Amino acid sequence: MRQFGAFNHATRPSRPLDATGEVAKPRTRRLAPPVLEIHHVTATYEEGGRTLTALSNLTFDVGSGEFVCLIGPSGSGKSTLLDVIAGLTAVDHGEIALGGETLTTAERLGRSAYMRQRDLLLPWRTAAENAGLALEVRGMPRKSAVAKARERFPEFGLRGFADAYPVQLSGGMRQRVAFLRTVLANQPLLLLDEPFGALDALTRAEMQAWLLEHWQQEQSAVLLVTHDVDEAIFLGDRVVVFTPRPGQIAHEERITVPRPRRRSMVTSEAFVHHKAVILAALGLIEQGPA
Ligand code: ADP
Ligand code: MG
Repeated sequence: MRQFGAFNHATRPSRPLDATGEVAKPRTRRLAPPVLEIHHVTATYEEGGRTLTALSNLTFDVGSGEFVCLIGPSGSGKSTLLDVIAGLTAVDHGEIALGGETLTTAERLGRSAYMRQRDLLLPWRTAAENAGLALEVRGMPRKSAVAKARERFPEFGLRGFADAYPVQLSGGMRQRVAFLRTVLANQPLLLLDEPFGALDALTRAEMQAWLLEHWQQEQSAVLLVTHDVDEAIFLGDRVVVFTPRPGQIAHEERITVPRPRRRSMVTSEAFVHHKAVILAALGLIEQGPA
């Protein structure tokens, strides 16, 4: 039932090219500047008169078209980071640049496509009306937005379900609708917060394969938060490991498993090596050879 139509690259915003060469780092795989740069970011919450530091002096970037997975313990600030990037949360210190441009919190709104951790669909809207929201919030009339969303349903494995209500869809289908809504935002950076967390193992594997295929065609950069080490390695060009709160980088692992990725690769030497390093960085196994 999976189907992939031609993605419309003509409507994609052009990405600024690197004019100065200053921001391009040798390890990014393309010449364009990083799609996302986080510089010394600290973010806190005030709660009951106390200050809770969620992110502390965090620095890293995501290259144009790169697939980065972020993994870390619960409460380490992963969702906070995505909220910060999306312009939903302000930082106390530090700078965030998108496409080479340093932006304020308000300026970051709508500059990335964000699928939040518990991204519930609106129960009173049909699947197509939910997906079309991404276009409506950008000023498109609802009727055109829904029509545009509806066109993409077969491509997302949702043929025949445009008029269904969320309660009539399976968990995997609801995720696809939420994902379609994210993609319709048509941004060079996708922020996905545990997008497959609530799915059973089979649906999850299917969605991972599907996301990779989609990413390869669409060429957006992805920053995906996950709890699952295998998922992070299977999907990512790079895996960023967070420390417990406040979130800082414990380790960055560049994944050398070749693409296209196949499920059988999870037993390859490279995969198993990455897994040992990441589990050690998470403090789940001892450092060094088994
Ligand atoms: P993660 O996504 O890695 O599980 P979060 O970013 O959700 O972590 O949370 C990081 C820390 O900030 C946690 O200790 C959490 O309880 C706290 N936190 C998150 N959101 C809020 C909020 N709106 N108000 C106060 N504290 C918050
Ligand atoms: Mg979270």
